[in-house]
Amino acid sequence: MSIRRLPENLVNRIAAGEVVERPAAIVKELVENALDAGATRIAVRLIEGGIERVEVIDDGYGIARDSLEIALERHATSKLPDDAIENVETLGFRGEALPSIASVTRFELASRTAGADGWQVTVDNGTIVETGPVALTGGTRVVASALFAKVPARRKFLRSERSEYAACLDQMRRLAMARPDVAFTLEHNGRQTLNVGVHATLQDRVAALIEPDLIQNCCIVDVSRDAMHLGGVASLPTFHRGIADHQYLFVNGRPVRDRLLVGAVRGAYADLLARDRHPIVALFLDVPRGDVDVNVHPAKTEVRFRDAAAVRGMIVGGLRAALDAEGFRAVQRPAHDSLPRWQTPGGGAHADGSVPSSGLSLWSASPSTPAAVHDTARTFAGAGDSPASTLSPIASAWLAPMARAEEATASVPGVEHPLGVARGQVAATYIVAEAADGLVIVDQHAAHERLVLERLRAGAATHGAPSQRLLMPDVVDLTEDAADAVIDAVEALQAVGLDVERFGPTAVLVRSIPATLGQADARAMVRDVADDLIAHGAALSLKERIDHVAATMACHGSVRAGRVLSVAEMNALLREMEVTPHSGQCNHGRPTWVKLAHGDIERLFGRK
Ligand code: ADP
Ligand code: MG
Repeated sequence: MSIRRLPENLVNRIAAGEVVERPAAIVKELVENALDAGATRIAVRLIEGGIERVEVIDDGYGIARDSLEIALERHATSKLPDDAIENVETLGFRGEALPSIASVTRFELASRTAGADGWQVTVDNGTIVETGPVALTGGTRVVASALFAKVPARRKFLRSERSEYAACLDQMRRLAMARPDVAFTLEHNGRQTLNVGVHATLQDRVAALIEPDLIQNCCIVDVSRDAMHLGGVASLPTFHRGIADHQYLFVNGRPVRDRLLVGAVRGAYADLLARDRHPIVALFLDVPRGDVDVNVHPAKTEVRFRDAAAVRGMIVGGLRAALDAEGFRAVQRPAHDSLPRWQTPGGGAHADGSVPSSGLSLWSASPSTPAAVHDTARTFAGAGDSPASTLSPIASAWLAPMARAEEATASVPGVEHPLGVARGQVAATYIVAEAADGLVIVDQHAAHERLVLERLRAGAATHGAPSQRLLMPDVVDLTEDAADAVIDAVEALQAVGLDVERFGPTAVLVRSIPATLGQADARAMVRDVADDLIAHGAALSLKERIDHVAATMACHGSVRAGRVLSVAEMNALLREMEVTPHSGQCNHGRPTWVKLAHGDIERLFGRK
């Protein structure tokens, strides 16, 4: 048998298998080329999810007429002038995209450089079929149509128009996110589906691409460590989604997909979100070129870090620092769709725009005079004078010292009290407070649970949480594996103030419990902790175990919904929230408080 060299167009078609698997890959390669060419505006048009046609028009510096055909040759690139792959600053460098795409589509490459006329080369599945002048104002236009028309085996693997389009849109978002200084548009079947002008900041661009409300509900990530820098935005834990579809990572300006991100984000938000909820993050990591290899895969969406653990640590630490800095912040108002649910007795505003007064004595009383509101609040909830003795011993032990200090200042809503001054309690579950700029409602159980957790955790982080010895050690009967799990975690438990010992094969002895938890039922708590350790314990580091255990215990030691609180106790809770990190969300990512701004209240009454 004789060995022969494969013809170039066959080689390209084989290579195309790696570079061009679907329309989104074509979008990526062509848009990256436009960015590399210094474009400031990039327009992408798709027909039928890009299967029928992908067109990319840019205003970059173009390709000279005598270079057009060279650009279509395999491994022809203008981007590696000195053969040093390590130093690539451009998105492309392999010189594979254009020949690969041109070998599996009907392909038009038209370009015009400054001071020259436009010129176009047309390629039909790898064979140049036409060259000639073309009318073009400047820059480059590339059209790739009828993808895989001549490669039926590959065409079969394309998915529906809808999912190919979705992949193209995702790709466009990633590309546009990294470059707020460039304007992008996307059209699908003649309809514009994305349009972003030049943005001044990354967070503006990220919000424009994902969700405008993100701007009010995100924090800025900005940390440096050694020669690395991590910037970007991350949603507050209360601004979460059901799927992890908006988590983006860019390494040295290049959109990448790396599993490392998924794990790191989960780690950073671990106890701030339920397991099935996901934050929005867009992170931009800059690392020295020698520390990352982008040359792993032709499509270049994977990277290899020299020190992956350091990168992961940097992402977790950076996110955590940004979230910690947010303190008690949570979503700033109830979700839009819940606003109409605020009910107005008597059916809302009258036709003449005046407000019905019946039943609305609290809120229709002039809200600008705190004294008047304060009086009404007492009659409203009837909670203002409740004796502290109706509290659980835990709650009163914990809240009382702060409550006393608070009484003197309780009636002055001011800037120093962002969560406002307690005015009453609703359903013995929600604290109603008046802040300088609106009405605040706090979910007392969710909020207190969070405060207890943060106390336990702060104790664990320093010297070990203070614990109180039980007069009589409690024997807790467990299954054998549950007892094993508890004993395996002795160190983590001690850190949060829970002292346990083995007591026979199927029981443990509890000697002391965290002081913060007061009279909590040690048995029920230890059983829950054991369940929790069996469910996720083994895989976790000590610190993660401590976090887990603390979260489970916090639930046992906090003020229940349905507990009547005095105004002083309510204020104590609000003040504590204001100085406690992460107190804006409960341990499951739900907000602990919502605010209805004065403007929103006025809208509810048709005054605005
Ligand atoms: P690479 O991007 O890896 O260099 P490509 O096959 O994508 O390889 O492109 C080959 C060459 O064609 C590029 O190096 C560049 O010189 C030129 N080119 C491609 N697209 C454009 C464009 N939109 N504007 C200017 N030059 C381009
Ligand atoms: Mg390229």
